Amino acid sequence: MADFISRRSFLIRSGSAIAVSSFGFPSIIIPRKKEKLGVALVGLGNYSTNQLAPGLLQTRHCELRGIVTGSPEKIPVWQERYGIADRNVYNYETMHTLADNDEIDIVYIVLPNHLHAKYSIIGAEAGKHVWCEKPMAMNAEECLTMIDAAEKNRVQLTVGYRMQHEPNTKTIIRYGAEQKFGRIKEIESAGGFNGNFPEGNWRTIAAKGGGAMFDMGVYPLNAARYSTGLEPVAVRATQHTDRPEMFPDVDEHTNFELEFPGGIVARCETSFGKNMNHLHVSCTDGWYRLEPFLSYTDVQGEASDGTQLPPDTAHQQARQMDNDTLAIIENKPPVVPGEEGLADMRVVDAIFKSASENGRRVEI
Ligand code: NDP
Repeated sequence: MADFISRRSFLIRSGSAIAVSSFGFPSIIIPRKKEKLGVALVGLGNYSTNQLAPGLLQTRHCELRGIVTGSPEKIPVWQERYGIADRNVYNYETMHTLADNDEIDIVYIVLPNHLHAKYSIIGAEAGKHVWCEKPMAMNAEECLTMIDAAEKNRVQLTVGYRMQHEPNTKTIIRYGAEQKFGRIKEIESAGGFNGNFPEGNWRTIAAKGGGAMFDMGVYPLNAARYSTGLEPVAVRATQHTDRPEMFPDVDEHTNFELEFPGGIVARCETSFGKNMNHLHVSCTDGWYRLEPFLSYTDVQGEASDGTQLPPDTAHQQARQMDNDTLAIIENKPPVVPGEEGLADMRVVDAIFKSASENGRRVEI
């Protein structure tokens, strides 16, 4: 921490970064004018390898400049593929020394869920803006510590909920806000896939943030919240597992029903054993739906008045990362700030509580 503070004072004194404040939004450190901001991916697993790194080849406002990995064998492969300099290669023990590296402006935490809070805080304390994958953390309390670290260090904290950047999703968010089809009465949403995980995979281990609810359940949950623009007041949830040999201590299936103000109900489902991918919103004067609603590409839908929402094929992650970079450069609130991840985790905490008490109604 002391190192960080001295680094921060140096940055401000030397003018290599400037602090700007704007009404209603905390002042953050804005990197000095650069053509593109530098991103370091933290954790080089499937999502970094197959989506984020390729996406960073398409971004206009940021680029892949660094990596943080615990797997030395990945380093030469990534250096060669993405032209990453030796000085921008870190492991989890050296990650805090990013504080001395002006080439990296943003760290993107793409680790198993139980490590999100720890490494987001290390990134923030190194003076780097933090993008953190979903679910934001293991519980609401961890989210609060992350938000606190970002505020103290005057960096942005953004959650990787890519759907909120997606055009058809933005359209249905607007439908809800404008009550285009009347008042929302009911939402039905499900996200899941039929997965087979090798023994020991972190997605099957509770202590590592495994289970369907954390991995896929946050999509219908977030969708219910962004569709209504409201926070749920209570939840009932049940969880079960059909394959205990694969999921000894996590949920393979979770069903949850959210009560929103005004009597709106959202019936949601998630699973590691079933392919599901839809969002249906029923209103007093009609309906609209997205199916698929959470895929990497081709999110599409329709509405009861015949409106078609044609498949969107742009690179979702590139768009998300460009939007999030512009929020930093322009010192604007990001599309999905840490508070949005916190709001979801408050509900997830209540879902787990309800499920552990036989589906009892739990107020949020
Ligand atoms: P993987 O298991 O494929 O990769 C995780 C990586 O984390 C590993 O490859 C490893 O990278 C690093 N790691 C560090 N410590 C550990 C540990 N103790 N156990 C396992 N891995 C460790 O996961 P994904 O890439 O699929 O998911 C990572 C995160 O991204 C999750 O939070 C997930 O929810 C999120 N995600 C988000 C998606 C979205 O659409 N927004 C889609 C998919 C995932 P290294 O070897 O480099 O250290």
